Amino acid sequence: MKIYMSVDMEGITGLVDHTHVSSDLHNYERSRRIMTEEANAIISSLFTNGSQEVIVNDSHSKMNNLLVELLHPDTQLITGDVKPYSMVQGLDSSFDGVIFAGYHARASVPGVLTHTMIFGVRNMYIDDQPIGELGFNAYVAGYYGVPVLMVAGDDQAALEASQLIDHVTTVAVKTAISRSAAKTLTPAKAKLLLAEAASEALKNRSKVQPLVPPKQPVLRIEFANYGQAEWANLMPGTELIEGTTMVKFEAKDILQAYQAMLVMTELAMHTTFS
Ligand SMILES: [Zn+2]
Repeated sequence: MKIYMSVDMEGITGLVDHTHVSSDLHNYERSRRIMTEEANAIISSLFTNGSQEVIVNDSHSKMNNLLVELLHPDTQLITGDVKPYSMVQGLDSSFDGVIFAGYHARASVPGVLTHTMIFGVRNMYIDDQPIGELGFNAYVAGYYGVPVLMVAGDDQAALEASQLIDHVTTVAVKTAISRSAAKTLTPAKAKLLLAEAASEALKNRSKVQPLVPPKQPVLRIEFANYGQAEWANLMPGTELIEGTTMVKFEAKDILQAYQAMLVMTELAMHTTFS
């Protein structure tokens, strides 16, 4: 059994604001240690419960957060940026299941540090389905026929996962009070729950179906301001929908939609500080 795990940071136990998840701020070094230990709790359980191979993809910001020197010795780590498929780099049909850990809910909904890729995205859609990082990544897994077996994060990430994927195992390591406050478990307790959940997720894997994406998906991204939409619209093949800050792209498949989304959000970030 071969398992793929994508680890983001906003949904890790105890982390609630930008001082925890920005590499230049004072809580970050503590946070990345907690993130690494939390990943290890899941990885150990996967190996104990029948996995032969576990590939971990660091999926937060510059994607170099996980401390490789502390990571479970039998895993392999995908680390650094740029990666053509970002949070799902290296995922393909050779895997038997996917785990998302440290995940957060999509932009414009309640939850700890909610956003979709960048803070300038207000909403994102695949066809008419509102989609966040969790859903988009699950669609890419589904394209390869691989089911998402487990999602860990705050209670809102867990909710988003269970609304999208029937029978997915979820773990809420904290309960959102606001976008930057939560009632959180301790890492010690969370690690026990995550290990248990990983074992459950493997046992239940035959019940979970891959989240199959539409064949020719229409991607729409609504930005917070018009300048971001103008930047995103520089990508050939996109259309800025008149009277909105929404940019549309008709993709040939979900992989192309994913890369279009990466390029459009990257372009839109040019306006973040001006
Ligand atoms: Zn992140």
